[in-house]
Parts: sequence; structure tokens; C-alpha cells
Amino acid sequence: MKPGWEAVIGLETHVELNTKSKMFCSCPADIPDEPNTACCPVCLALPGALPVPNEKAIEGIVKIGLALNCEINQSSLFYRKNYFYPDLPKNYQISQYTFPVCEHGSVPVDVGDESVTVGITRVHMEEDTGKSTHVGEGGGRIHDADHTLLDFNRAGVPLVEIVTEPDIRSPEEARAYGAELQRIVLALGVSDAKLETGSMRFDANVSVRRIGDETLGTRSETKNVNSLRSLQRAVAYEIERQIQVLESGGSIHQETRHWNEDSGETTSMRTKEESEDYRYFQDPDLLPLDVSPEWRNAIASTIPELPAVQRARYVASGVDAKTAELLADTAALSSLFEEAVEAGAPGRAVGIWLTGDVVGHVRRDDGDLDAISLTAAHLVELASMVDGGKLSSSAAKEVLLAAVEGEGSPSEIAAARDLIQVSDSGAIEAAVDAVLAENQDAVEKIMAGDAKPIGFLMGQVMREMGGKADPNVVRELLHAKTNP
Ligand code: ADP
Ligand code: MG
Ligand code: ZN
Repeated sequence: MKPGWEAVIGLETHVELNTKSKMFCSCPADIPDEPNTACCPVCLALPGALPVPNEKAIEGIVKIGLALNCEINQSSLFYRKNYFYPDLPKNYQISQYTFPVCEHGSVPVDVGDESVTVGITRVHMEEDTGKSTHVGEGGGRIHDADHTLLDFNRAGVPLVEIVTEPDIRSPEEARAYGAELQRIVLALGVSDAKLETGSMRFDANVSVRRIGDETLGTRSETKNVNSLRSLQRAVAYEIERQIQVLESGGSIHQETRHWNEDSGETTSMRTKEESEDYRYFQDPDLLPLDVSPEWRNAIASTIPELPAVQRARYVASGVDAKTAELLADTAALSSLFEEAVEAGAPGRAVGIWLTGDVVGHVRRDDGDLDAISLTAAHLVELASMVDGGKLSSSAAKEVLLAAVEGEGSPSEIAAARDLIQVSDSGAIEAAVDAVLAENQDAVEKIMAGDAKPIGFLMGQVMREMGGKADPNVVRELLHAKTNP
């Protein structure tokens, strides 16, 4: 960032819950491809239809709130947020305003080697809109469309909005927060949290100010950013753009902007509504929502281990923070890692093998991993073979990848490929004695204090042993026998 400036960022994140039915009716929330086949009078807002809140969705939002260290309001209220949009059949969205389900939370986020805490202002319950498809020459853009197709299947799908305090200070922090939130939601199992399909999406509020300024600058809001990489890029772009505008004497307008992935720019969509424009009022069709302490506690008891705790556990078993993150983020690896460590394998070595060699070997072009035939028992065996000097570290890697390919257990593979190292010191000692006898000049140099020929002698012994002597044993013997 340009010296003298500071960025201030607050993120709003929408998460579609994976409940069976929609938020206020019994239509399926796992929406069918065929347009307008999952709609009813309630989600189409036909006159007289009455909404009934989805209990599972409330459990979902309470889980998210608890995982983000929020207070859960026992009583919360549903509001109507009024605006006209073609894919909003009611012409209002049922949302929350004052008294959301969850408030005043915080989430620790690791950014590189540092940890920052992002405040959570609120987590509230609302419903998703339908989908518009603009048809025509313009490649799906509304301005060039001949006509627009409306699909109300998604209208009424439970949507949770998570709003942060303006605590984020850099594009990297914004991305790290987004990634951590996604992990948390996935761990809770309340959404598939897929950015590419929009079941999780970000709005980035960005402003800048001169370092030392106490008041916040005017913000722009970049809507519906749909990947972590785009989130980082969009925030970085906005920071630079706003600094340039301000430095050249201009001013920032509070507006909604759109991120264009191809050009790597944000463009203005419309000036931003103030909340007064939405004419919020309490929905007369819905009673205050009551989350009793008993219900809250019952939900709390179902919350699984959260990703940060899982990573800390991995670090405690010997891996570094980056490796812990990679392991925890990849289900296929984390279960192998946990089982192997549980069975006594050293965490550090197993972590490096899995996140380095194994991932490098099985990662496909699309980023997913191919099936791994490796088992935890293999990892335990491999580690003990290395530990006992039976395999060199490079032979261990060869054996590891063969086990990944399903060639058998490490001892079988090592035997079949003739990779077992000799660490029996009797055999090695004979070879060492033979080499020393043939190289008396080198021995004299070493005894006179010149350590250089040791490397040469090591090489000779290894050759004598067909490359399969444990180098540690060879080195020790050479030192012992050339020390006056
Ligand atoms: P709205 O619905 O108008 O977008 P919200 O209160 O829901 O308002 O969300 C506002 C978001 O913008 C929050 O994440 C908040 O932290 C962030 N924010 C508010 N003011 C600023 C500012 N000056 N600069 C950056 N972010 C801001
Ligand atoms: Mg907003
Ligand atoms: Zn319905």
C-alpha cells in the first residue's frame, strides 16, 4: 500500500444454508435445475400465504453465531426490507434489522505468521432471491438483453448474512478472513459454502484514510465477489483506486461497485441506498423468534471441533503452521495424518510427506486429489524404517510414492526395489576397514587435521556397499577409526 495511507475493510458474507426446505415454506431448498418447479404460494408471495420459519435454518444460524463467538439473542425479529427487483417476487425480502439472531462476535484469523481478530457485528437470517438470466447478444449483460428469464426456485432459500466490524486492514487479511469463515462454515456442515456456485459470496466494503486519521473515510461496496482470489484482488484494486482519487483532489462516493474478473477492475453499479430507503418494518406475518437457553445449549453441544483448534492440535504434534493448515484443509490428508500420529508416527515427518511428496504426486489439474492407496499403517511403518536406518530419506520418498500408487506396504516395496539400507555395523565396518587400508594417504591427512578426505572415504565405502549403507553409521565409523 502507498505509504501514508491506511485501508479499512468490512466484509459482508452471504451463506446459503443446506437445509432440506426453504426458509419459510416447504419447497425444496436443494433447488432443481428445471426453472420454477420449486415454488409455492408462500415463496411467490401470493396473497394470503403465510411464512413459517424453518427450525433447521435457525439451528444453522445459531451454530454459525456460536462458532463466531457471538451472543445469541433469545428474542429476535424478522423485518421486511422493501425494494423492487424482478427476481424478488414479494418485492421485499424477509430479513432482520434490529435484534438479529447473533451479535457481538469475533474470529481470530491467521495472516502469514500473525494473528488478527476480526470483530463480527451481527449474523442475521434472511432469504435468497430468485435468479435472472438475461438473454441476447450481450453475453448475459442486462443492457444488451432482448429479454430476461426469471427462475424463482432459489427465492426463499435460507440465507445467513455475516457482517464484520471495519477491522480488516489489507487485501491479504480480507482473503484470510474469507478463507477462515469458509472453513468454519464447512466444519459446521451447515452449507456447502461453494464460492463458485454462489452458495457463499462476499461484499467488500472498502475505504482509505491517511495514517493517523481517526474518522473513517467514505466506503465503496463491491458486491458478489465469488472467489477468495477475487476478494483479495478486488479489495487491492479499490484501495489503489481510492488513494489515487483522493490524492488527485477528488472524493469518494458511497456507491455499489461490481468486480470484473477479466479486466481486474471494479466499476460503479449504482449509488448506494441508505437503510432508510428500504423502509424496513417488522414483518406482521412473523412472531418474534424465540431461541430459548435450552435450545441454544442443545445446539451448542452439537458444534464439532473448529478448524483453528484442529490446526493447533496438528502444530502440537510437530508440524509447522502452514503444514497444519494444508492438512486440516484437505479431508483425505487430515484423516490419514491423525490416524498415523495416533498410531505413534512422528507428526513432523508424516506432515512433510503428506503435504509435500504425496500432494505433489496426486494433485490433478483441477486441484482435486486422486485416490490415495496409502494407509496410516504404511506411514507408521515407513517412519519406523527411516528411524531404524533401514531407508535413506530419498529411498523413503520412493517407497512413499509407490505406496500411494498401491504397490503394497513399505517393507514389501523396499524389499522388491532393493532399497533396504544396511545398518548392520559388522558388514559396514568390514567395508570401512578395507577402504581405509587402500587409502592410507587420505587417512594420514585426516589424522594430521585435514577433514576434507572424509567425504572421499564416505563415497568409497558407499560404493563398496552398493550404495546401501546407512550413511550415519559409515560416518561414525570413519570418524572413530581416523581419530588419533
Ligand atoms: P449496508 O447494509 O449498508 O451495507 P451494513 O451495516 O450491513 O451496511 O454493512 C456495512 C459493512 O461495511 C460492515 O461490514 C462495516 O464494517 C463496513 N463499513 C462501514 N463503514 C465502513 C468504512 N467507512 N470503511 C470500510 N468499511 C466500512
Ligand atoms: Mg451492505
Ligand atoms: Zn415455497
